[in-house]
Amino acid sequence: MVLKKIREAVGPRFPIDFRINGRDGMEGGLEIEESVEICKILEPYVDSFHVSSCFHMFPPHQDIMQSPIFQPHGHLLHLAAAVKQAVKKPVTTVGGFNDLAMMEEAVASGKADIIALGRQYLADPDIAIKGQLGRAAEVRPCQRCATCQSGRFTFGTARCAVNPTIGREYETQFIPPAKGRKKILVAGGGPGGMEAAITAAERGHDVILYEKSGVLGGALNFAEHVPFKHDLFKLIGAMEAQLRSLPVTVKLNTALTPEIALQENADVIISAIGADAIRPPFPGIDKDHVLMAEEVDKGAPVGDRVVVIGGGLVGIETALHLAQQGKEVSIVEMLPDIANDANFRYARTYRWEIEKWKVKVFTNTRCSAITDAGVEALNASGDPIFLPADTVVISVGMRSREEESEKLRFCAPRFIPIGNCVRPGVVKDAIRAGYDAAMFLD
Ligand code: SF4
Repeated sequence: MVLKKIREAVGPRFPIDFRINGRDGMEGGLEIEESVEICKILEPYVDSFHVSSCFHMFPPHQDIMQSPIFQPHGHLLHLAAAVKQAVKKPVTTVGGFNDLAMMEEAVASGKADIIALGRQYLADPDIAIKGQLGRAAEVRPCQRCATCQSGRFTFGTARCAVNPTIGREYETQFIPPAKGRKKILVAGGGPGGMEAAITAAERGHDVILYEKSGVLGGALNFAEHVPFKHDLFKLIGAMEAQLRSLPVTVKLNTALTPEIALQENADVIISAIGADAIRPPFPGIDKDHVLMAEEVDKGAPVGDRVVVIGGGLVGIETALHLAQQGKEVSIVEMLPDIANDANFRYARTYRWEIEKWKVKVFTNTRCSAITDAGVEALNASGDPIFLPADTVVISVGMRSREEESEKLRFCAPRFIPIGNCVRPGVVKDAIRAGYDAAMFLD
């Protein structure tokens, strides 16, 4: 009755798209068989169907409707496919798509006619154009990190981890062109350095990017071997493709030293040389079974019982990565809560995942020593506890390479340190700082 009235009101040529849950995911709610029957009944009154699932307010439904990193990409496609088999009108799928080839495959396989994108359009509003122009490699993938969704509450506007213009679109479109062509040296090929080089080159400057290792991406390279963080690794690829499409000279295996910087006689140095993981002076820290989180991510052998010291983002993700491999994992955190550096939307997701993978969490607990058999700690009451472990993983934060960065300060008229070498932060902070350093250069 409602759709009939809508059709009468808008006329035969106005498109009506009907969004429906393929599955409600709650007791007594719609299941796919019922949704399919409903779509068949409604087909004469609508032009297309858009098949989603669950609800955006309540856990764990939120993590199905707004897929986070722990969901497979395109995880609702099977629901659209079931509707598509039953109707002739076009069917849209949605849910974590961020890769053009995967979208192409979903349509080509006949499971859906249209792919709906939400956050991916914030991450890279040019995705469709890049696809049309054969530049798919340059598409920045949405990280499904919910920084945008949390941003409104934290910053008063949306912000995006990979697109530094989100939340200030009006402001950034009126930035005047650079006054003159400058020679810019960028130290460090992590996300901040790459973004600075891309933005500076797009503004017509001459840019040389120095990276002391043999690869770009900096700290993000850990994501290559962590399945639920792999989109960060893809981000490096997209930024590298952008860099290669621009007249930027990239020098790998070359640190920007003061000697090189002085020889180059540049106008500006942007320093983005990052930070080092902190190695706390616990008794026993140098034992063979103690690993830094980055060593675990790079594939160092890990025993069956693991204690992760540090319950921030890196510690939690390392713990989950190991728990998913079937290991028995505990987290020791000295603060009253874990995930203190996660956005509030994700802090909830991490807690659900920790529960799901049965990771034990000891908050208000301080490590006092690492022994051959595990970790000695003091709990909230000051009582000693012992956690047996075959491997102990350290993840207690980062320390800026400020001193090394400052050596470049007087090697050019302008020196702009950014990102982790100023203050350790997340990808969003590094990319935004890189963009600002290059974009607001007069
Ligand atoms: S903030 Fe994160 S989730 Fe939101 S659009 Fe950007 S990358 Fe995607």
